[in-house]
Formats: sequence, structure tokens, C-alpha cells
Amino acid sequence: MSLTTIAGFERIGEENAFAVLARAGALAAKGRDIVNLGIGQPDFSTPEHIVEAAVKALRDGAHGYTDATGILPLREAVARRTLTTTGVEVSPERVVIVPGGKVTMFAAILMFGEPGADILYPDPGFPIYRSMIEFTGARPVPIPIREANGFAFSAQETLSLLTPQTRLVIVNSPANPTGGVTPRAEIDKLVAGLAERPDIAILSDEIYDQMVYDGEEHVSLLTYPAIADRLILLNGFSKTWAMTGWRLGWSIWPEALYDKMRKLAVNAWSCVNAPAQCAGIAAIDGPQDGAREMVAAFDRRRQVVTELLNALPGVSCVTPKGAFYAFPNIAETGWKAKALASALLEEAGVALIGGPDFGVHGEGYIRVSCANSEENIRRAMERLGDFLASGTAARISA
Ligand code: PLP
Repeated sequence: MSLTTIAGFERIGEENAFAVLARAGALAAKGRDIVNLGIGQPDFSTPEHIVEAAVKALRDGAHGYTDATGILPLREAVARRTLTTTGVEVSPERVVIVPGGKVTMFAAILMFGEPGADILYPDPGFPIYRSMIEFTGARPVPIPIREANGFAFSAQETLSLLTPQTRLVIVNSPANPTGGVTPRAEIDKLVAGLAERPDIAILSDEIYDQMVYDGEEHVSLLTYPAIADRLILLNGFSKTWAMTGWRLGWSIWPEALYDKMRKLAVNAWSCVNAPAQCAGIAAIDGPQDGAREMVAAFDRRRQVVTELLNALPGVSCVTPKGAFYAFPNIAETGWKAKALASALLEEAGVALIGGPDFGVHGEGYIRVSCANSEENIRRAMERLGDFLASGTAARISA
């Protein structure tokens, strides 16, 4: 066997957003004017008091290992925040501090994925769900997320995909890449169905829980006692407090799985960076005006981008109700989504992501991230409009 033949790695995927970010950076380094609407990372700095808390922690000597599940004051802060945002009391003994939200999905999928198992995941959805499912040898079963349904998931369709082999169901609301928010009635139905299947674990990715608009509510799956004994909740600091590079997240685990997660932590990362954990306490307990201003900016931008997209020929865009992405339908332009994304970057200097990078049901769509200034969003949409108006030849050859 050759050195590079390693089981599973022929199936593991990636996040194309990072490749687009690198390509956009390379073009910009050559002097090209690139407007980046590709990456899912707030274009704001982490609020100052959070940065200061980390600096102070370093000066005060937070240099060593911590408990593998995270320092108790941070787990307590997460429990307090959970009570405030969901009304649900969780013990800090069920909270695990992790190096980024992604790590929770990695762990949950690793726990339940194996050959012969089915795992349901949203499509279009965060690409790492499918990648990790495939890596474990489990069968990835996409839950189609449909524009006709306002990009909410359908409980009925999700339940219809369950098989005796289903081990894990992954849901995400507010959602990446669509901005969809699933209403309470639909979640009620899903939970009622899953209550009949106590052998299935549920991973609820609620990393965008603070980013909902137009009076929509975020409904946490934590609020359903019927599934509490097998619900894994994913959340983190990356989006709410603009902390993507800090690598700091948290998950809430059911009692039966907690020790397994603790062991994974011990084996893989020992503990999360200690000063970052201290910053996490400041993020939760400190002033929230920075976080609120960011959400207000995303709210304005998603309205601007939706209006501009809907004015373009062949493009239609459902108004996103959550997160900070728009997911316009570009099928009528005649372009394949990835070809359009790539041509836009190379020829028009606009970075965004083709829908198929989020799953097969993403064909016909592109993801536009609102993590850029309103001015840059307007410039990008103007370029997109000009490009579509002049792109007939390129389209035919695409
Ligand atoms: N879940 C969703 C739906 C996301 O969009 C992202 C990041 O884009 C993550 C999880 C991962 O977050 P983190 O950067 O904290 O690992």
C-alpha cells in the first residue's frame, strides 16, 4: 500500500469558500480590484472589551491547560446565556467549550457515522456536514432545502427520509447558505416525528441564532423536552461576536453523550486556548451593543442586496430571514452556478460562491455574503448586472 492511500480521504470534502478567499486574495495581490462577497465571516472587528479580556488574561497568567471541557466560569456563562436566549436551564456540566463551531459537527458526525448508518443533513447546507458524513463511511442523505418553502426545511419531507438505519439528523436554522429560518410550526412537526424515534440523535446547528430579521423568531431545539435526551446543540462565538479567527465555540450535549465528547476533546485538542476562553466570558457577559450593531448592519445590507438582485435580469432572490447571506436564483440567466461564480471572480472582480458548493440542490443559485460594506455590495451588484448584460458569449461557451 502506498503512503498516501489512507482510508476515507478519497471521500472527504472541503469548503470552497476558503479556496475562493485564497483566489480572491491572489488576484488582489496582483493589483486587481476584488469585491469579496464570498466568505462567511463578519467584516467587523471583535468588540474591544472582548479583545481586552484576552489581553488581560494573558498578562494575568492564563497560559496553561484548562479542563478539557472548558473553564467552569465560561461554561457557566454559556448556561446563563442559554437561559436568557432560550428560557431553558442547562447545567454547565453539559456544556463543552470547543475550538470553533465546526468541531461540534466533526465530533457528532464522528460519533454516529459508520458504514451502514444514514445521516440526514440539509442540502444546500454547510459543506462540512456532507464531507464529514462521507468520511465516516455513513450514507449521506440530503434534506432538500427548497426556495418554494422560503428555504425553511420541511418536517414532512425530512421525516419521510428516515430509515431504520438513520442515526443522526442535522438541522440548521437560521441557515447557511440560504438565510432561511424554519418556523416554529415546522419544528414542532419535526420534533413530534423524531419523538417516535428515540434511537436517532439530533444535531441542531444554531450558530446564527442572534441573526433573525423581520420579526422572525429563532426557535431553539433545546426547548423541546421530547428530544432533550439526544439533542446536541452547536453554537459559538464566530458569528455573533465577530470572532471567527479566535476558534471558540460551545456545544451542549445530552448527559449520555457528554463523557464521550469529553474524551474526544482530551484526545484531540486537550482544551481550548485559555485566554480565548476568558474572552468568551467577556463576550457573553459584557455589553452587547457591538453585536447588536453588527446585526443591524446585516439587516440593512440583506435588504439592499435583495432589492438589487431582484432588479437584475434573470435573477430572483427570496428575502433572507436570517444569518447574513442571500441565495439568489440565477437559473434564468442561463449560467451554471459554479461557472458564473468563477467567471465573475476572474472577469468582473466579484467573489461569491456557486450554490453547488453547498450541495446538489444548490444548482441554479449563488451565495452572496453580506459581510462587506453597503458600498461594496452596491459595487458588486453593479458589476454583476454589467457582467450578465454582456456575458452572452461566455455563457454559451460555459
Ligand atoms: N455552522 C454553520 C452553519 C456555519 O455557517 C459555520 C461557519 O461558517 C459554522 C458552523 C462553523 O463555525 P466556526 O467558524 O465557529 O467553526
